Amino acid sequence: MRIENNTVVSFHYKLQEVGGEYTEDSSGGEPMLYLHGYRGLLPGLEDEMKGKSAGDKFSVEVTPENGYGLRDEDGFKRVPIKHLIGRKKPLLGDIVTVNTKDRKIQATVVKVGRHNVDVDTNHPLAGKHLKFDVEVIDVREATMDEVSHRHAHGPGGHQH
Ligand code: ZN
Repeated sequence: MRIENNTVVSFHYKLQEVGGEYTEDSSGGEPMLYLHGYRGLLPGLEDEMKGKSAGDKFSVEVTPENGYGLRDEDGFKRVPIKHLIGRKKPLLGDIVTVNTKDRKIQATVVKVGRHNVDVDTNHPLAGKHLKFDVEVIDVREATMDEVSHRHAHGPGGHQH
């Protein structure tokens, strides 16, 4: 079966920052699971999945525009430590959750002061060119539940 809208895909991937040091490798754990057609993956990766089937391997380079977005230089903010959720003594480089007026945002600590921290609210991979090596493990038809929830259910996907 080929990957098209409303199929559930499991796959392993190696992710590499082009010209950089960041790497990620799913092969030590469960394959990643997603419902195709709902932007559950980075656009540049999801587009490349279309038409593939179990056993297919491919590589794709993803630009920031089709990946985690461009870096926003206004993404640096100074926030009181008491506005961080669940982190009393943040350390440089920590990923923290900031409670803002209307939402919770993830950010990276770039400077720690006594009462405040400076955080970068850009995704750590924003602005980066990425290369994925993908192996498609399985493709199946989505259940009606999955389509109505707009995500895949099961190990590697949503479990609720
Ligand atoms: Zn669900």
